[in-house]
Amino acid sequence: MIDIHCHLCFPGAYKSVDEVVEKAKKEMAGIVVSSARYDEGLRVVELAGKNEKFIFPTLGFHPTEGTNHEGVLELIEKNRDKIVGVGECGLDYHWEKDPQKREEQKKIFQKFIDIAKKTKLPLVIHSWDAEQDCFEMVKDSGLRCVFHCFSGSRELAQHILDNGFWISVSTQVCFSKNHKKLVKIIPLEKILLETDAPWLSPNRPEPNYPWNIKISAEKIADIKKISKEEVLEHARKNAIKFFSLNI
Ligand SMILES: [Zn+2]
Repeated sequence: MIDIHCHLCFPGAYKSVDEVVEKAKKEMAGIVVSSARYDEGLRVVELAGKNEKFIFPTLGFHPTEGTNHEGVLELIEKNRDKIVGVGECGLDYHWEKDPQKREEQKKIFQKFIDIAKKTKLPLVIHSWDAEQDCFEMVKDSGLRCVFHCFSGSRELAQHILDNGFWISVSTQVCFSKNHKKLVKIIPLEKILLETDAPWLSPNRPEPNYPWNIKISAEKIADIKKISKEEVLEHARKNAIKFFSLNI
């Protein structure tokens, strides 16, 4: 099993990150740990250093974090060979309604698109209620892109897939009808699983954990009428392919 997106290093997410990692090692092949700001990024790189070939970091800047993103760009350049992707980054129109601030988000997102091109790394995109604009900005980038926690329309999901991009299925599939419908159009060759842990827990009020992708896999297996193991195996291979993981 590989969780392609979670925030193990988000401040205060877990009492002991090391304990979560040790438990995950018993049943998982790897975890791609994302970051949304500078301090989280530093911790992610450190955690990956302690858990080589198991924790794979991505460095990014969340659109709701404001404008102080330059440090993260430097961190990406400095750690180019230690990270597997740029992100998460993107646009968030769910929380940001001000048109001017949305324009600022676009300018910053463009810088992360540019650094992904420069460093030849895949891009992990946050696109809450801004899926169409995110797609327009990366459509012709030539980058390998994954739309994480994608919650847009099925029509747009199809365009994204047709464009060669990826959509990861979060643990939202355990409790959301819309996400179950989305799964129908994602072929097994393109299935990626993520938890976005500690958020989006299928076992609330408990926080989410990377191994909960197996609960998603059960739901997807029902929808696709195959076994849970097949879903997990496709998702594992796809994760290795997408991020070029050295496992
Ligand atoms: Zn995230």
